Amino acid sequence: MTQTMDRPGTTGSPAERTDAWLAEFQAALTDRDVDRAAGLFAPTSFWRDLVSFSWNITTVEAPDGVRDLLTATLDSTDPTGFRTTEEPTEADGVITAWLAFETAVGRGRGLLRLVDGKAFTLLTSLSELAGHEEPLSERRPAGAEHGVQRDRQTWAERRRAETEELGRTRQPYVVVVGGGQGGIALGARLRQLDVPHVVVDRHPRPGDQWRNRYKSLCLHDPVWYDHLPYLDFPPNWPVFSPKDKIADWLEMYVRVMEVTYWGASTVTRAAYHEDVGEWTVTVERDGGEVTLRPQHLVMATGVSGKPNVPVFPGQDRFLGDQHHSSRHPGPDAYRGKQAVVIGSNNSAHDIAAALWEHGAEVTMVQRSSTHVVRSDSLMELGLGDLYSERALAAGMTTDKADLLFASLPYRFLPEVQKPVYDAIRERDADYYRRLEEAGFWLDFGEDGSGLFLKYLRRGSGYYIDVGASELVANGDVRLAHGTVRELTEHAVVLEGGTELPADLVVYATGYGPMNGWVADLVSPEVADRVGRVWGLGSGTAKDPGPWEGELRNMWKPTRQEGLWFHGGNLHQSRHYSLFLALQLKARQVGIPTPVHGLPEVQHRS
Ligand SMILES: Cc1cc2nc3c(=O)[nH]c(=O)nc-3n(C[C@H](O)[C@H](O)[C@H](O)COP(=O)(O)OP(=O)(O)OC[C@H]3O[C@@H](n4cnc5c(N)ncnc54)[C@H](O)[C@@H]3O)c2cc1C
Repeated sequence: MTQTMDRPGTTGSPAERTDAWLAEFQAALTDRDVDRAAGLFAPTSFWRDLVSFSWNITTVEAPDGVRDLLTATLDSTDPTGFRTTEEPTEADGVITAWLAFETAVGRGRGLLRLVDGKAFTLLTSLSELAGHEEPLSERRPAGAEHGVQRDRQTWAERRRAETEELGRTRQPYVVVVGGGQGGIALGARLRQLDVPHVVVDRHPRPGDQWRNRYKSLCLHDPVWYDHLPYLDFPPNWPVFSPKDKIADWLEMYVRVMEVTYWGASTVTRAAYHEDVGEWTVTVERDGGEVTLRPQHLVMATGVSGKPNVPVFPGQDRFLGDQHHSSRHPGPDAYRGKQAVVIGSNNSAHDIAAALWEHGAEVTMVQRSSTHVVRSDSLMELGLGDLYSERALAAGMTTDKADLLFASLPYRFLPEVQKPVYDAIRERDADYYRRLEEAGFWLDFGEDGSGLFLKYLRRGSGYYIDVGASELVANGDVRLAHGTVRELTEHAVVLEGGTELPADLVVYATGYGPMNGWVADLVSPEVADRVGRVWGLGSGTAKDPGPWEGELRNMWKPTRQEGLWFHGGNLHQSRHYSLFLALQLKARQVGIPTPVHGLPEVQHRS
């Protein structure tokens, strides 16, 4: 009892206890007393840092991990001013406190969870660099320059001049390969931070990535989760944006955010020159070749960008249409035809449903189990507290939701998610029973942690049900199981001999890892040096261990100087583009960026 009383932060209101903990933490940091600071963390505890201490995205665990992090970073970070920014709250014995602090080079925000006077989780994140703040709100540009000026240039003239110079007479500091939502969000951040950049995409227009996908596609994530940096969707925007509508939004966004965007331009190769710390990036553009010489190259080529196209005997003699889901034109040409969709995840279901709606006879081939979750249930139980009209009404902002989400360490996330999926399983028990009775192989992830963990671990293996599961449950879309042995002139033949007559075969077989792009554009050696991209090292299917604690290589330094990866869903593109942009800005202006905790490469592909 006395011991508890003595420990900082164990008596008083949540605010008093938080203040006591923060005072002790700050004092230990100021004294450079790493052991004392580490002792303020519970034996099971996590400190996730987004760039503010580590110049990395990293999570350390337990007092030992805290000691390591601080030993390496405390002097250079020189953190000061840890304080709460609003009244801490307490629920179920956990105090949650929003924080602000300063470092030697910038300002940070964070979130602390205290249990019994010790830190259970701490999130620290860099939000801006001192002296390089974004020109937002009270710092916004005047636009008009009042007074008189000889040879005044208008905004449009300055924009035109920049477009003409950049990449020709003036080199960009950053080249972003890929101008989907990821490249675009990063481009917008770089613009605000005044980092000369060019976002290069092989498609003619921003948004074409979405326009070219199968025509029935609507976003599976809701609008509150999908905002881009600086510019929220308006309140009349649909909850699930049709693909062509999101494409138009991206195109508009590029213009109004003044992203330097080269459409119809393909990066064909890139090489890094250690001696000068510079890339040469070859771009095919306007029928010729342009060479760019940036210091940094960001691969924003899409986590779902490199199609996995399977090779089966007999594909050459098959007389119908066959294509990967990324090339599926839509159902119109297949009325009355027999379609076989290989795969049972999101694209497979969306495409199968659209084909059925247009009068095709559809068979879905399931090779392994799939996690299925009804969109309504996911929105209500999975995302509703953070990203919904309900969340907004309760005072939740996108910014806070993003930080709250980020404050849950990946190691601990399954424990948060499992009860959600238990509740979904119970609520939709009848639905899941019908699917299983129809022969559909279901799972909830190997540890029952559901969709988001599957997404983080392997980026595949699930369907957010927006209607197709009913077709599977009632038999309108037929199911077959197994692996494909071969194609004949008119059929898909499975191992075991089942023959599925087909006029159309869609390979909804997913996408390959982003390091494949590096092998293609830079070299297989550099791809190997950098290693696998995405996944947590959870030791579950398609995400081999050891445990990494963070998504491999995403938004943080890699083992190749000057090479970065960006992307993910709209939420991740929005949130993590800030940290990537700050890392790039710091390097541009010569702020020292000693990286702590760069992981060893465990897997080459
Ligand atoms: C069917 C489907 C549905 C999805 N639904 C959602 C959803 O609801 N919500 C969500 O957030 N995410 C969704 N995703 C996942 C993901 O968010 C999207 O794939 C999204 O488009 C990723 O954005 P990105 O910018 O990272 O990559 P992409 O949009 O794939 O953009 C990458 C770009 O890189 C370009 N590129 C590649 N190589 C080169 C080169 N050498 N030179 C020039 N350009 C190059 C490509 O042309 C492409 O435009 C979905 C994905 C798919 C496939």
